[in-house]
Amino acid sequence: MRRLLILSVLLGAVFGHEDFVGHQVLRISAADEAQVQLVKELEDLEHLQLDFWRAPARPGFPIDIRVPFFSIQAVKIFLEAHGIGYETMIKDVQELLDEEREQMVAARAQARSTDTFNYATYHDLEEIYGFIDQLVAEYSPLVEKMQIGNSYEGRPIYVVKFSTGQDSRPAIWIDAGIHSREWITQASGVWFAKKIAQDYGQDEALTNILDNMDIFLEIVTNPDGFVYTHTTNRLWRKTRSLTPGSACAGVDPNRNWDAGFGLSGASSNPCSETYHGKSANSEVEVKSIVDFVVGHGNIRAFISIHSYSQLLLYPYGYKAEPAPDQEELDQLAKSAVTALASLYGTKFEYGSIIETIYEASGSSIDWSYNQSIKYSFTFELRDTGYYGFLLPASQIIPTAQETWLGLLTIMEHTVNNPY
Ligand SMILES: [Zn+2]
Repeated sequence: MRRLLILSVLLGAVFGHEDFVGHQVLRISAADEAQVQLVKELEDLEHLQLDFWRAPARPGFPIDIRVPFFSIQAVKIFLEAHGIGYETMIKDVQELLDEEREQMVAARAQARSTDTFNYATYHDLEEIYGFIDQLVAEYSPLVEKMQIGNSYEGRPIYVVKFSTGQDSRPAIWIDAGIHSREWITQASGVWFAKKIAQDYGQDEALTNILDNMDIFLEIVTNPDGFVYTHTTNRLWRKTRSLTPGSACAGVDPNRNWDAGFGLSGASSNPCSETYHGKSANSEVEVKSIVDFVVGHGNIRAFISIHSYSQLLLYPYGYKAEPAPDQEELDQLAKSAVTALASLYGTKFEYGSIIETIYEASGSSIDWSYNQSIKYSFTFELRDTGYYGFLLPASQIIPTAQETWLGLLTIMEHTVNNPY
């Protein structure tokens, strides 16, 4: 009986997870605009079930696509027929997933404090929420936990608040994990939380920031999607909300903001990875932040953390017109990526979303910028596609450390340049 039970648990674990055996990630190099258009056509062929990790943008800009085993021959024949160059970046996605899982199991341990917490492994939602509670217990009153809403599936949405002063000080907003499969971002968020708590009163720059401003950090911005990446599909990007009349779940929460909502650079197809949703703020995970930020009224910097591609981006994504503060944002981005690179030499490109990658409508930092939050930035963390979303856990701490230097640069500038 017991054996049977163990067997069924094991089978449940096996069958519960979507598998990616034989899936490959191809890097496509479109040489000219005509080839970019051809690759875009592939995007519309739903039966191929392609998953664009880096969407087609412009000639010379790499396009990364996860191709299911059953579509590989068709895609390669299509590319070869049109003379479009490609290489195989990941030979078997499932192999990387297996390694990631083994690493997590081997590293699993209940931490007694945030000092013994393992920052060098990926954690699930329960572990991250447990970490937040521990951090609050150890560093109160500097650190507080706030609930800003509930996810579509009813999970609490938490923000970690760092404050040394009274309410409604000017503040800095940082969110991670709005795209659930970008695991390096939630893991970095955990590391940032500990870093902020322990550096206050120790590190001059951080102390100066917290003596003048509060920091709000949302580590898991899309909790339903994040749980789904652990239980069912590691590569899930969107929310988990249901769209009436469609078999496909989820909205891209970074196309759902009220800034150029529904313009090109998002999809109206619920099955697309960039589906913008039925209306701006339809996703409660987005609406909760909007309500919080508007209600606060004194957020001076708004930073969204994504992966991957190694970019630091500022508005706009939905229009080509330069942001009124373009010059200052560009200078600040340059300083931030220089600071970031100073640790391990990791090179980030920077610029406006539309100029640096592609047109993207309804994104968080375009919305925050339109709310007069001048210092609005998006980071795209490591790497440039060797592992993509499946960055090995051994890179968590170095990634968080270097990103922290970029964040500090932006936060210091925000404190020193009131507006
Ligand atoms: Zn993202």
